[in-house]
Amino acid sequence: MQKPPKAVLHVDLDAFYVSAEVREDPELKGLPVVVGADPEGGKGRGVVVACSYEARKLGLRSGMPISQAYRLCPQAKYLRPDWGLYERVSEEVMLTLKGLADKFEQSSIDEAFLDVSSRASDGESARRLALEVKKAIREKHGLSCSIGVAPNKSSAKIASDRNKPDGLTVVPFGNIRGFLGPLPVGVVPGIGSKTQEFLKEKGILTIGQLQQVDGRQLLAWFGKNGVWLWGVVQGEENTEVRQQEMPKSLSVERTFKEDVDDFGKVRAAAAEASSELMRRVKSSGLSYRVGGVKIRFRGFETHTREKTMVSQTQSEQALQEVVDGLLDEFEARGKPVRLIGVRVSRLQRGSEGPSKLDDWAKA
Ligand SMILES: [Mg+2]
Repeated sequence: MQKPPKAVLHVDLDAFYVSAEVREDPELKGLPVVVGADPEGGKGRGVVVACSYEARKLGLRSGMPISQAYRLCPQAKYLRPDWGLYERVSEEVMLTLKGLADKFEQSSIDEAFLDVSSRASDGESARRLALEVKKAIREKHGLSCSIGVAPNKSSAKIASDRNKPDGLTVVPFGNIRGFLGPLPVGVVPGIGSKTQEFLKEKGILTIGQLQQVDGRQLLAWFGKNGVWLWGVVQGEENTEVRQQEMPKSLSVERTFKEDVDDFGKVRAAAAEASSELMRRVKSSGLSYRVGGVKIRFRGFETHTREKTMVSQTQSEQALQEVVDGLLDEFEARGKPVRLIGVRVSRLQRGSEGPSKLDDWAKA
């Protein structure tokens, strides 16, 4: 039986880690920003995790040794990764995206597939929906994204990468093969440098050339992956967007009307936020493994800290203790506080037992 036509958006947030940092500290806007190891004046070890488009223009790339980045661009703003921040921003954005889709599948911290088939049957109507998605992400979250629109997931993903940042690329719904043909084989998810090298030896550089290769040959070269690859390059890949119900984390935040000097008030607000958060966790039938805090001082200086529990738990008291402990170092700073937040992550259905999150993430 023929499957009904599908419309899929692949949404990819632009320079996500850096964009999240810029949103926290608008003074970084327009500057070369590098997230990664401390450059220590050029002697630092470790690598660039992410960099802004302004930094990319100066030759910086993610994965580059931080010392090399510093030689190229000592004037860049160098930031240590704030994973708690990225997870929280991701969580907010993903909730919005989920609300805009029939079916929603988060594929990484900054990427998701949206099945919008009930409201779009062709490229034009799907393109209009993609514009709405971009607008929502910009207006609600202050972030830009690039979107690929296609009748299947694999070509939507390839398309979202064609025109960044703030891009929108629509694959012709009647001609996926034609769209893919001129592109280099390396744009196919899963074709890494080794496979590219292998194909190059066979004289295959473009997807168009790969489209000429018999399916049995691909099977012989790549085993089961060859079957998948054949579907992708022929535009026949048709896997479903898989709805996931489990949130990655939950959080509650309190912004004070006026910055607070009395740290006792900050602790009280954190305790109250913890109670509210735990009501949500329990009412969703979840347990958590990691508890954390977010604190923002006057002037937007923001910090996050977290602590992993020995096991999954639904205990409010355990969260209260962790939160109180994590706040100690901030009390010692003696600065006025603007915002306090409490967060739990590594969520799991049920109240205890070993974390199944890894299995869930793989499924
Ligand atoms: Mg991205």
